Amino acid sequence: RTKELGGNSYQYYQPFMNQQHTELLQMESYLYDALTNKEFELYYQPQIDITKQKIVGMEALIRWNHPLLGRVAPNNFIPIAEETGLIAPIGEWVIEESCRQNSIWHDLGYGDLKVAVNISARQFQHKNLVYTIANILTKNGLSPQFLEVEITESSIIQNPDLAKKILTQLDELGIVVAMDDFGTGYSSLGYLKKFPFSKIKIDQSFVRELKNKQEDLAIISAVVILGRGMNLQVVAEGIENAQQLKLLRDLNCTTMQGYYFGKPMNAKEATCFLGEGLRGNKN
Ligand code: C2E
Ligand code: MG
Ligand code: MG
Ligand code: MG
Repeated sequence: RTKELGGNSYQYYQPFMNQQHTELLQMESYLYDALTNKEFELYYQPQIDITKQKIVGMEALIRWNHPLLGRVAPNNFIPIAEETGLIAPIGEWVIEESCRQNSIWHDLGYGDLKVAVNISARQFQHKNLVYTIANILTKNGLSPQFLEVEITESSIIQNPDLAKKILTQLDELGIVVAMDDFGTGYSSLGYLKKFPFSKIKIDQSFVRELKNKQEDLAIISAVVILGRGMNLQVVAEGIENAQQLKLLRDLNCTTMQGYYFGKPMNAKEATCFLGEGLRGNKN
């Protein structure tokens, strides 16, 4: 079955089937049924503009609740979903569900809230990705500017021409294209110039030890200036405490995401979070 779907799935079927391999196969077979069984759920993490004291976006983060495996983290199943090609229907579900949720939030009065979805490399091969996204937006009455797609450098590297073609089409539709985990790859600057990014997300590894690391301060400061010069929005990820917030603020970083502001929450909790709001959110 997996063989037909292509990818590098062969590597799982070697004779030395140890326990790890068996678990992987088990997980893979569970993953085939996960959509039908409605085992996926989206969590949302707020992005805050600290100058406006406002929640400007929600990043959708997928969760898989399996009856036997329990909660499986995306880093543990997204690679399998990519390998098997299941990422296409799963990714489509993520876009559909997050747009549906965002249009509910718009109806509740949060009329300029954006929702961000993560797109992985293999999703670029989805034949009608752009068309599918456009349809989902129309169906939910959501204008394209309220959807962001987050792409990592590593997913561009796999097929830069295809990535460029698709990202350009998404950009032309008015969708916000963001580079995720910025700074962890190796040729980000060239990509920033060649690809239609409007936003960069500074990876959390630069924020983590900010207080002791002169290097991290220098890198973040440079990225903020770079963003300004290239007319890109800059978001810092992984803010966990007030000290990091202060340091980032001093570096003129205005948009932030992290446990300090809010952990990823289910839709209901995220709606309450919006309601408690930082001032300025309703419009
Ligand atoms: P990401 O897009 O870089 O998402 C940020 C990750 O950092 C999330 O982990 C989030 O829960 C976590 N995080 C946020 N704030 C903090 C913080 O203050 N401290 C710490 N230590 N962590 C923080 P999560 O939800 O486990 O997702 C991991 C990765 O899985 C994501 O990284 C993204 O690459 C991928 N992913 C998640 N959902 C999807 C999806 O729907 N589709 C695809 N293709 N990938 C997804
Ligand atoms: Mg992301
Ligand atoms: Mg990230
Ligand atoms: Mg990541």
